[in-house]
Amino acid sequence: MNLLITNARVVDPSQDFDAKADVLIENGVIAEVGKKIRAAVDTLDAAGLIVVPGFIDLHTHLREPGQEHKETIASGTRAAVAGGYTAVCAMANTIPPNDERAVTEMIIAEAARNGSCRVYPIGAVSRGLKGEELAEFADLRAAGCVALSDDGKPIANAQLMRRALEYAGMLQIPVVAHEEDLNLTDGGVMHEGLYSTLLGMGGIPAASEETMVARDVILAHMTRAHLHMAHLSTSGAVDAVRSARRAGVHVTCEVTPHHLALTDEMVQSFSTNLKMNPPLRSEEHRKAVLEAIADGTIDAIATDHAPHHFDEKNVEFDLAPFGIIGLETAFSICHDRLVRKRVIDLRRLIELMSTAPARIFNLPGGSLRAGSPADIALLNLDERFQVTNTFQSKASNSPFIGETLQGRVVATIVGGALQYDLREQAPLPVSKPRKKKR
Ligand SMILES: [Zn+2]
Ligand SMILES: [Zn+2]
Repeated sequence: MNLLITNARVVDPSQDFDAKADVLIENGVIAEVGKKIRAAVDTLDAAGLIVVPGFIDLHTHLREPGQEHKETIASGTRAAVAGGYTAVCAMANTIPPNDERAVTEMIIAEAARNGSCRVYPIGAVSRGLKGEELAEFADLRAAGCVALSDDGKPIANAQLMRRALEYAGMLQIPVVAHEEDLNLTDGGVMHEGLYSTLLGMGGIPAASEETMVARDVILAHMTRAHLHMAHLSTSGAVDAVRSARRAGVHVTCEVTPHHLALTDEMVQSFSTNLKMNPPLRSEEHRKAVLEAIADGTIDAIATDHAPHHFDEKNVEFDLAPFGIIGLETAFSICHDRLVRKRVIDLRRLIELMSTAPARIFNLPGGSLRAGSPADIALLNLDERFQVTNTFQSKASNSPFIGETLQGRVVATIVGGALQYDLREQAPLPVSKPRKKKR
């Protein structure tokens, strides 16, 4: 599909571009961004909207293969495009885990068949996610994996982590670490602090994350490999990243929208949609993470989209599985809570959700430069709406249901094709090209 998007404000952090402009898409790639482009193609009048490079989620649990009652590649990618994502990186903790070529190939084939956006598989670090022996990284890489992670589980064995970094370093792909010391977590279900004491619930101390961050920074330094740390949530963790950077260690990190927006105080409601790992931290930690996002310490915002079936979450807090969905609300939460509250500006938010993720995992996209894939999100920053319990995801385990947020994804284009239109009943105003006069 060829398409000319006119009258939009175009924000592209990859080129430091923020101005009113037209965007011409030809054959699935960006042909041109500029003023008053003329082309005999369908025209989308995007007056009042913002055009940005499509979001890229570094951390999505698609649950397929093996747990299709929670989510599938089809439903998870529909949720992705509804959230402005044009690509998601699929975590390896499926059943069976993505620890061998056949699983990677199955994910890629299913995404090509039934996916609404691009899917980049992440391979397992260890066979069976058991943390004992390394998976065959070269094979996984050749099959299409863009990173390696046992996410959901930490890698307790430091020697295995060292070997993983060395091996991944040779292949020039990152190891993504879920930083947690399970001995310190000790069966905890929420952040260890005032509220875990008040509620009499098992606490997960900040140190559970911070000790592992410290270890892995040392191992990244030693191996000179690229360590990417998933969902950081504590002040000590972001401090460690800051000083690692200063020392020239190749570390990158992500945070989730929920750790930026919510705190452990909310767990008093006992809603199991407030149970995730790492847990919601105290206001002190949240503030430190906000500071780290403003000063550039944090590289990316990733959702850790973790769908669970309603019945699985509809149990006592202690018994509920960890995790919440996030793809469909990420942009709105971050715009409402970060941009509107002037923690960061829109350009920085788009960088965190698109340009930086592309760079971190070395993926196409994250840019509107000519020749880039035509992966685009259209945003309305003025629209206020209430999050309801109807999602494109199969799951609805979101703590943001009922919240009113400002800023919304209205359309998503992947490879030049419109994959999501918020108002299908009243579609975006696309007009046909005028016939040329002879
Ligand atoms: Zn994790
Ligand atoms: Zn995860």
